[in-house]
Amino acid sequence: MSDCIFCKIAGGEIPSSFVYEDDNVAAFNDVNPQAPVHILVIPKKHIASSAAVDDSSVWSSLMSSAVKIARKLGLEENGYRMVINTGEQGGQSVPHLHLHLLAGRNLGWPPG
Ligand code: 5GP
Ligand code: ZN
Repeated sequence: MSDCIFCKIAGGEIPSSFVYEDDNVAAFNDVNPQAPVHILVIPKKHIASSAAVDDSSVWSSLMSSAVKIARKLGLEENGYRMVINTGEQGGQSVPHLHLHLLAGRNLGWPPG
C-alpha cells in the first residue's frame, strides 16, 4: 500500500532503526511510547488489521517474533504485555496490522 506509513517503514522508505527484522516481520520503537518499552511488531506485507488475517503463518511469525524480542530484552522476569488493537472501538489508529509489546512498568487492568 503506497500511502501506508507502516509499509513505508517496513520497506525502508522511511528510515527506521529496527529492534528486530526477518523476512516476514519488522519491529521498531513506537514514536509515542506508552511504557518504558513500547515496540511495534508488524508483518512486512500490508494487512489492514487482525480481522483481515487469512493465513495463520502471519500469527506464528508475529507472535513468535514478539516473544523472541521480549526474551532478547530480558523482559520475562518482570513481565510484559502484547496488545493488538482492531478497528475503531478497539482503538486501532494505523490500518496496518501491528502488535504492541509493552513493558517496564506496572500495566493497569482493565485497559482504558
Ligand atoms: P494503534 O492505535 O493503531 O493500535 O497503534 C498505532 C501506534 O503507532 C501508536 O502507538 C502510534 O504512536 C504509533 N505510530 C504512529 N505513527 C508512527 C510512526 O510514524 N512511527 C512509529 N514508530 N510509530 C508510529
Ligand atoms: Zn501497510
